[in-house]
Amino acid sequence: MPRMLAAGNWKMNGLNSSLGEFLAILEANTTSEAEILICPPVTLLAAMAELSRDFPVTIGAQDCHANASGAHTGDLSAEMLADAGAKYVIVGHSERRADHDETDEVVRAKAEATWRAGLTAIVCVGETEAQRDAGQTLDVVATQMNGSIPDSATAENLVVAYEPVWAIGTGRTPTLEEIDQVHDGMRTLLCTRFDTEVGAQVRLLYGGSVKPSNADEIFAIGNVDGGLVGGASLKASDFNAIIAAANG
Ligand code: PEP
Repeated sequence: MPRMLAAGNWKMNGLNSSLGEFLAILEANTTSEAEILICPPVTLLAAMAELSRDFPVTIGAQDCHANASGAHTGDLSAEMLADAGAKYVIVGHSERRADHDETDEVVRAKAEATWRAGLTAIVCVGETEAQRDAGQTLDVVATQMNGSIPDSATAENLVVAYEPVWAIGTGRTPTLEEIDQVHDGMRTLLCTRFDTEVGAQVRLLYGGSVKPSNADEIFAIGNVDGGLVGGASLKASDFNAIIAAANG
């Protein structure tokens, strides 16, 4: 079974004054069976990577440019993020797909960039509410996965996060059966496209309103290998409870 991963996405939240919350996460998790990852805003990335050096907590980024360097004002390459201490990069989050018109092709190029820099890509996929209502969930997820995941995926360089757009930040979640069905479909797709060993070992995260009160039951679903957590990762007590759920 893949190692569970509790991943926090701080989005555009966090100042130096938030480092106390981060320290409270470190202090509560001096050992952990599950992998713990926090993706802060880039302004905090290097400081958090340094603070977590002796703890079982990894730091990641929320996006990268596809190129290694060049005339792209305001952008950051995967190599720069690696240099600052990142081990993972989230690519294709629905907020970036929506706010920055990121297509599957763009997301795929970003995933390739993370691999060029020796990092692991967390590729996000998920349907809108209208697509779910139209019964298109499995098709949308399959199309996004096929388009966004490069061919040279391995169990080490790829994590896939299923994040229904309508569940992000809303307090609403699919039923456990619905999550189970989508994750089973994702696993089948990976095992069909890649070597079965690879497909079986790539971690599949669920994201969308994961909180202390639902983490246990979501993480107990067969093909759920952890969570990508937004709002509840900002508060140490909530995220620590979610990490505890990932630790079983
Ligand atoms: C996310 O942004 O990836 C997310 C899942 O957010 P939230 O947990 O707040 O729904």
